Amino acid sequence: MIIVIKPGTSPQEIDRINQELSRPNLKTETSLGKHKVVIGLVGDTNELNPEQIQAISPCVENVLQIKQPFKRASLEFRHGEYSEVVVSTPNSEVAFGKNAPLVNVAGPCSVESEQMILDTAFQLKAAGAQFLRGGAYKPRTSPYDFQGHAELALEWLATARQETGLGIITEVMDAAELNAIAEVADVIQVGARNMQNFSLLKKVGAKGKPVLLKRGMSATIQEWLMAAEYILAAGNPNVILCERGIRTFDKQYTRNTFDISVIPVLRELTHLPIMLDPSHATGKSQYVASMALAAIAAGTDSLMIEVHPNPAKALSDGPQSLTPEQFYLLMEEMKVMAMAVGRSW
Ligand code: PEP
Ligand code: MN
Repeated sequence: MIIVIKPGTSPQEIDRINQELSRPNLKTETSLGKHKVVIGLVGDTNELNPEQIQAISPCVENVLQIKQPFKRASLEFRHGEYSEVVVSTPNSEVAFGKNAPLVNVAGPCSVESEQMILDTAFQLKAAGAQFLRGGAYKPRTSPYDFQGHAELALEWLATARQETGLGIITEVMDAAELNAIAEVADVIQVGARNMQNFSLLKKVGAKGKPVLLKRGMSATIQEWLMAAEYILAAGNPNVILCERGIRTFDKQYTRNTFDISVIPVLRELTHLPIMLDPSHATGKSQYVASMALAAIAAGTDSLMIEVHPNPAKALSDGPQSLTPEQFYLLMEEMKVMAMAVGRSW
């Protein structure tokens, strides 16, 4: 259920309404939009009916039921207002959201050495990226493939963060690593393979750091939003949804199928910010640029692009990685596309 409060209502009156609603099995969440205040109710709302809520205060404008199973993630929960996830990076605050400038995240699949991540980070920063991505713990199909440099890689990421001022995004695979990752990461990534690891989602939600939730490779949009709901329900409102391609039937020419249609679909369903990852979606570097531009044209809020100083020698995901030079040129094209579709940069 959501309660829309009349514009101009005092904070004291909003507090009073929240107190009146307080029940052991009911959580209230107040969101302050630019023009409205909305109180969301989640949990056992059986004790309350809309008329009772309306009677609590003359400042209650409207009481609405949320029909979707994803409550906090739904657009109604914020009464049609898109949320911004604001991330503090060493140099500035970066906002992800429909009305914020496009955010660019780039970096190698895996953090391979201190020198490699530092050199790459400086080049990405020069190209205009705001975030450095790089895996310390890698989800690999084969146990014999490179698994990531773990804690060492986290230290190298911390150095890159300090030296360049870029924000850091890195993946958590196991709750045991969560504290160490949260020390370094400005945004914690939950990968496609863990999208429905519900116990991990609860713990990541409780941690409070912004979360990048990748879509599972065969997840429906509803399953993805329900996974986001786990993080939101654990008390963390800062979730960014990342489309990274879904598995269809062609494995020969493309790694996955890039579901760009999620952008308009998600805009109808959720207030959460959107990221698109054309690297994992296509699996081939030669397709990344056109898909990145298409994602901007379709209205994505941010992009994640894999970049490696020497893709032919990469320890993971080399075939889909751009060189820093290619990334620099792509950023120039992306800027033009962003301007053409009225997206601030
Ligand atoms: C990654 O970002 O390197 C990664 C493993 O992504 P995904 O979970 O989308 O496969
Ligand atoms: Mn990768």
